[in-house]
Amino acid sequence: MTALLYGSHSPDSSGTDHSIDSSITLVSSESATTVTRWCYDRGDTFTSDIRLARCLTEQFWTRQFNAWGLRYQRIRSFKAYVGTRGPRCYGEASSPDNAFYCPESHIIAYDQNYMRRMYKKIGDGVMYMVIPHEFAHSVQAQLGLRYQYTVQQELQADCMAGATLAAVVRAGQVQLEPGDLQEIIANFEEIGDPDDAWWEPGKHGRPDVRASHYAKGYQRGMNACF
Ligand SMILES: [Zn+2]
Repeated sequence: MTALLYGSHSPDSSGTDHSIDSSITLVSSESATTVTRWCYDRGDTFTSDIRLARCLTEQFWTRQFNAWGLRYQRIRSFKAYVGTRGPRCYGEASSPDNAFYCPESHIIAYDQNYMRRMYKKIGDGVMYMVIPHEFAHSVQAQLGLRYQYTVQQELQADCMAGATLAAVVRAGQVQLEPGDLQEIIANFEEIGDPDDAWWEPGKHGRPDVRASHYAKGYQRGMNACF
């Protein structure tokens, strides 16, 4: 089973500009050093932003697992790929325009061209939708959670992603500007399922439903996602 963030429909590349550049601001290094510890990326370029989002997300989960009395297993690899030339998962080739967690190898991989396109179009906030969502799948696997329908697993991952962003904001590691959260949420339009067939395998949920789960996690915290 590969948990995919994106369904079969890709965002249009010719559409309107939803740019919210500089939406996520890394808190100044003096105040950040005390809380970020092992996250040293500045978050000022695509590559740095993506590494920072990964680092902050894993740091958050390490703390959260400690609080649960459990030990978080960091992913084995966080890999950029292009098109179908990514790591295989259960024998399946990677898909273009996707990001995924593979339980078999405990890795996360993402199509770097696609992520870069989303980053330019939506802004750096997109990192805090996509990356914590995939890490949420790695946590679901570590906790041994089971689901009747794919969509339940996906919506929980959206909720957990929102809760992750709230936690790093609360820890003073990133700052949101007014309206940022709404813009991040509005961008679920790019990736939600176009139809309502929630019972089908591989479904992620309608854009508004995905957005409401992300918002629930952001507003009410991780406990609200379980
Ligand atoms: Zn997913």
